[in-house]
Amino acid sequence: MRIVITGAAGFLGSHLARRFLDAGDTVVGVDNFITGSRRNIEELMGDPDFSFVEHDISKPLHFGERVDGILHFASPASPVDYLEHPIPTLKVGSLGTHHTLGMARLHKARYLLASTSEVYGDPQVHPQPEEYWGNVNPVGVRGVYDEAKRFAEAMTMAYHRHHGIDTRIVRIFNTYGPRMRPADGRVVSNFLVQALRGDPLTLYGDGSQTRSFCFVDDEVEGIFRLFRHPDRIHPVNIGNPVEFTIRELAEIVLEETGSDAPLESRDLPTDDPKVRRPDIGLARDLLEWEPKVALREGIQRTIPYFRELVEREDARARPIT
Ligand code: NAD
Ligand code: UDP
Repeated sequence: MRIVITGAAGFLGSHLARRFLDAGDTVVGVDNFITGSRRNIEELMGDPDFSFVEHDISKPLHFGERVDGILHFASPASPVDYLEHPIPTLKVGSLGTHHTLGMARLHKARYLLASTSEVYGDPQVHPQPEEYWGNVNPVGVRGVYDEAKRFAEAMTMAYHRHHGIDTRIVRIFNTYGPRMRPADGRVVSNFLVQALRGDPLTLYGDGSQTRSFCFVDDEVEGIFRLFRHPDRIHPVNIGNPVEFTIRELAEIVLEETGSDAPLESRDLPTDDPKVRRPDIGLARDLLEWEPKVALREGIQRTIPYFRELVEREDARARPIT
């Protein structure tokens, strides 16, 4: 298949591109580098089946050649990034989704939208099954991301129902691993960089809030299987269902890096969800998929990547707060 991946220079997009190339597909990556990096596609650029277009997908893009599949992953994804780029986030979730769906319609291509656990907001149902409609503050600071993704889901379903497009929606839960941008502000990248530098680990709130962390290889495999599934139209959660408090994560990071850095309390960000954990019953049944990498092992597998960046001082590109 000839696959287009938007956001291919990002963390997940670049891993996903590798997964499709390994399966024998041809991949065209699209990215404008707003939060991605050229380093993430260096390895892909050496593959004759990979090509790259630098483009802001919030503006239309036309491919003359055949396209069989489109995976729309372009979007700032970390709270720090989407708070810094609120309007590009809303545009790529709305206009970018519209343009890529239009491309799918023109080429009669299969379409997969990268959605998020953030559509459940600060959830009142726990763990979160796909049927839950969520608890999102539309006018809060996080609304730029959450509502863009909710709009994107609605648009994807409309293109399926109205134009008969073959669509998939994955709701991705907190994923981590090599190729995360060290200064993207997410908790795993922050804690690892801080621990490796010997700086205090910034614990927001009292650290009792929870997340369920999925190693990137597991996440990518789940997404790949969903894309290949013959007929799943409605959203599917892909994430690791083992839940940790943020304080527990800090302890694991300190143990695995061998760091004796202290914890430093910071204010809890506005509308920070108190709990998050996917119900993955559907993914288990439908895709015969479940995560294989436990958090401690995934952290061990991520440390060498961050250690190299810290040693090269790349992580100082932006102060971590
Ligand atoms: P990332 O920031 O590493 O990657 C996003 C990529 O999209 C970047 O390379 C960025 O430059 C590109 N991009 C953004 N706007 C663009 C535009 N207008 N045109 C072209 N390219 C653009 O983030 P990620 O973690 O890899 O996330 C990828 C996708 O997965 C996002 O859609 C995100 O919402 C979703 N997601 C990720 C997670 C996670 O834990 N990593 C969780 C939920 C959802
Ligand atoms: N967090 C933290 N310290 C940090 C970064 C994040 O305590 O340096 C907390 C944050 O408040 C949230 C959780 O870790 O409760 C996960 O944050 P992240 O930004 O990774 O993603 P989110 O799940 O909130 O989108």
